[in-house]
Amino acid sequence: MADIIQLLPDFVANQIAAGEVIQRPASVVKELMENAVDAGATQVHLIVKDSGRTLLQIIDDGCGMSAADARLCFERHATSKISSAEDLFRIRTKGFRGEALASIGSVAHVELKTRLHDEELGTRILMEGSDVRVAEPCQTAQGTSFSVRNLFFNVPARRQFLKTDAIEFKHILDEFQRIALAHPEVAFIMHHNQSEVYHLLRGNFRQRVVALFGVKLDERLVPVDEDTDVVRITGFVGKPEFARKSRGEQFFFVNGRFIKHPYLHHALSGAMDGLMSEGKYPLYFLHLEVDPSRIDVNIHPTKTEVKFREEKAIYSILKSAVRRGLGRFQIAPTLDFEQESSFNIAPFDKDRPVVVPEVAVNLDYNPFANEAPRKEGLAARLGRERFTRSRGYDDFYRILQGEPMDDAQPESAAVHMQQAIAMPADSNDEKGRVGAALFQMARAYIITPIKSGMLWIDQQRAHERILYEKYYHGEDTLTGSQQLLFPETVTLTPAEHAAVLSARESLGAFGFEVEDLGGRDIIIHGVPVDLSSRDPRDMLESVLKALQEDADDVEHPVRHRLALGLARAGSIKRGQVLSDAEMRDLIDRLFTCAVPAYTPTGRKVVVTFTPEEMANKFD
Ligand code: ADP
Ligand code: MG
Repeated sequence: MADIIQLLPDFVANQIAAGEVIQRPASVVKELMENAVDAGATQVHLIVKDSGRTLLQIIDDGCGMSAADARLCFERHATSKISSAEDLFRIRTKGFRGEALASIGSVAHVELKTRLHDEELGTRILMEGSDVRVAEPCQTAQGTSFSVRNLFFNVPARRQFLKTDAIEFKHILDEFQRIALAHPEVAFIMHHNQSEVYHLLRGNFRQRVVALFGVKLDERLVPVDEDTDVVRITGFVGKPEFARKSRGEQFFFVNGRFIKHPYLHHALSGAMDGLMSEGKYPLYFLHLEVDPSRIDVNIHPTKTEVKFREEKAIYSILKSAVRRGLGRFQIAPTLDFEQESSFNIAPFDKDRPVVVPEVAVNLDYNPFANEAPRKEGLAARLGRERFTRSRGYDDFYRILQGEPMDDAQPESAAVHMQQAIAMPADSNDEKGRVGAALFQMARAYIITPIKSGMLWIDQQRAHERILYEKYYHGEDTLTGSQQLLFPETVTLTPAEHAAVLSARESLGAFGFEVEDLGGRDIIIHGVPVDLSSRDPRDMLESVLKALQEDADDVEHPVRHRLALGLARAGSIKRGQVLSDAEMRDLIDRLFTCAVPAYTPTGRKVVVTFTPEEMANKFD
């Protein structure tokens, strides 16, 4: 048989390697910014056009390259950073594989201009899909500039896999932030489509954190500082009471390199145990310094993972360092609202006769009367307007026993509901009817007895569910936009700004009218009519938070996020006193929802207690 093995031509090999190293515009940003830092730059400037599809340029004032090096740097395994395998165990630079430039050069049009400090003329190189098109002397500032245009021009499959501009831009921001955080001693500037996104001055780590994530953060940071033989840990954690519901700012750096490390993350969560309410994520910005020979950073091509030899020891050191940091700042356990309900119950007077409270209800009173009627409410669909009035809440007991139902299939909930309604009503049993007593407890829960026990309803979550379904399903009932008398100008973070712009149309459909002022500013001109009494800024903030949560998650459309954000912003909160009529209305409306028992994010709205469970309490 003939010989069949052949060596792949260089450009093919480079493109294959590029697939691993360069997945999206943000990968180019990472590699080129790291090279700039490795070159000893004191200032790095990133210029982005169209989320990197059109142009990514990185300009540094680092050491620059000679004419020969400028040509050589695009070759595979061309690196100045290691020369032998042993060097791998002493690495202090970001790069060392010599793959990045070869990869980028094979999938884009790249222009390099570079000049050594002590030379008068620099070098200009033009690359197109691994071919050197131009190599000539040129005038240029000292340092290096890489311009990357038409990324993936020759790899259509890659181009197609790019996400929306907003998502690609978010990835670029992530990379930029990681490198900027790792190097507060370097100034970083970033422009996107002509406007300045960041201008970060040289400073210390705390100043860098605040410059990137806002001055509000400053007072929320607690320093961590621990030096042991195995690891030195420095940096900051967020005070637990400011922990957030969305995975936000969580940064580990090992020897100046950003890493993801679920195991160490767990140590952090462990250290905050009992200080943070459930479902919240701690904030942290932590540097770990470890002898380079005791880690292996080479297990993943894009190197956001590392393997420590003393992983277990580092875990416990980290956990206790954070605990100690918090202790030093006397952050005592703070309870969250759910545990902290204040029971202001007057002492029981034995001599007074016990009277059943009388409830006077104006059944026509509807505190939500200004909201548009729900045209396609489940009750209406089933031909029984406000059926709870004749059936009582017991019917829902069975539904509540079920698992969280998928919002995508409200039909299954409707079937349950229909069965519940079809159950024969016991017309003699007053307690099961809507006239049954309702109590508000701790200004947070509505409690009502039912035949089969007792229902506890979380008022805030109940209203969230109601509003969510209203916004999600009811295009035709959306009542449009209310113009603000005094339009509000709001300054956003770059990520928020990108999110607003990409969702502007959907925001408009919900009644939000926003105008882009360029930079990071927008003006809110109009808000959803039925929420016009709320603070527009708060509302937008809540919507933005929902928009950004897992922005990569394509299963949940923008509509879901917007509905969620609006529902959270517009819902009555815990702590609000409700009248009897308001409670009744809330419950009636909750049980006409397709999925009454859970919030849109799957948390319980209603809990039930059976007589057996209560009997157990009296053991
Ligand atoms: P690596 O960073 O792994 O060495 P790269 O492909 O990223 O590989 O870069 C190849 C080489 O090009 C580097 O080792 C360095 O010598 C040189 N180089 C790249 N970018 C710059 C820069 N901004 N300034 C000076 N030299 C650079
Ligand atoms: Mg590199």
